[in-house]
Amino acid sequence: MGARGALKGAPGAAGSAAAAPPAARNKHTCPHCGAVLQVFALPEAGGWDQKYHLACFNNDCPYYRKGWDWMMSQYNVKVSYRYRLDTASGCASPIAVWSETALVDRIVTKARKPAKKQKKGGRTVQRKGGT
Ligand SMILES: [Zn+2]
Repeated sequence: MGARGALKGAPGAAGSAAAAPPAARNKHTCPHCGAVLQVFALPEAGGWDQKYHLACFNNDCPYYRKGWDWMMSQYNVKVSYRYRLDTASGCASPIAVWSETALVDRIVTKARKPAKKQKKGGRTVQRKGGT
């Protein structure tokens, strides 16, 4: 009869995603607002092992919006925090922001649009001087 060659049920299909690099994982979303978390570069002085963490940069995120009032009422400071996720450990913790644009400049956008080479429409033909 026929030879049975192929093994069915390759291992790893139901395995944990912990071993996978962050880039290979599914996109994480914020549990507070559902926005897709964005990769941002950590400040070098932060002392983290990672170079990048994920955070919710949605300005309408209830977690972030409540943070302003909470910090103001507790500490009388105009500071809030965003939902942050350490992809290596899976630990979520707030990261303080001092303005709506704080850390925004650190967001790493993966989908970089390739720089379009601008073709110049027409060469400027230089005529040699007349007769
Ligand atoms: Zn959020």
